[in-house]
Amino acid sequence: MRTQIIAGNWKMNLTLSQAIELVDGIRYGLIFPGEVDVLVAPPFLCLHRVAEHLQESYIGVAAQNLFYEDQGAFTGECSGKQIRDAGADYVIIGHSERRQYFGETNEIVNKKIKAAFRNELTPIVCIGETLAQRERNEVAAVIERQLGMGLVDLTAGEVSRLIIAYEPVWAIGTGKTASPDQVEEVHRLIRFSLSMKFGGQTGEAVRILYGGSVNPANSKELLALPNVDGALVGGASLKAPDFIEIIKNIKS
Ligand code: PEP
Repeated sequence: MRTQIIAGNWKMNLTLSQAIELVDGIRYGLIFPGEVDVLVAPPFLCLHRVAEHLQESYIGVAAQNLFYEDQGAFTGECSGKQIRDAGADYVIIGHSERRQYFGETNEIVNKKIKAAFRNELTPIVCIGETLAQRERNEVAAVIERQLGMGLVDLTAGEVSRLIIAYEPVWAIGTGKTASPDQVEEVHRLIRFSLSMKFGGQTGEAVRILYGGSVNPANSKELLALPNVDGALVGGASLKAPDFIEIIKNIKS
């Protein structure tokens, strides 16, 4: 049985005081979340303070990115070693905004996943197609390529511990959600592909989140899908009541 995850990606939003207010709003607004892993991914500057503040709570902390070297002359970057030291347990890798605006390729994603494991961080690996790729019927090929290149040289043990987030690029921050049929189809494909590459046990163990305009109104249906193990939530994770509603919509 895979424990579901609700993860909030705050992107480049919130000051430190707003960040603390938001996590307090979540943990005091929902005292018992039930059988679910709840995570927030604050911007780097808030990471340490938020992680410290949440130490005794049920909310885990993720970084939004990392660099693939552990230290050295890489101005402006943060390493897995530093992120771990700041108190995070997870790291988002290969978000479409990083692929789109910062040139992150599948090869870079692969190096970052290895850096995360080296530093005892659980990677949340984002994959997904653009609208143009979907319209050209390339969804399966894109997913295969992102998984094939992104997970190269990883062991089955590592793959079973990482988290995949399927985030169709056209659904992120646009208010357009993929339909339940579209989501389940791609999630099934991802699980099948991982089973073929790393074995059936691994395919069954990997948690696959959906991301793309998830909100309180659409989350119940999406989270009920058999191959959906939770959600990566952007905009709606910035409001405690909305984020709480999504957590409550997790399938039991
Ligand atoms: C995201 O940033 O990962 C995301 C899914 O954003 P939104 O929920 O705003 O579409």
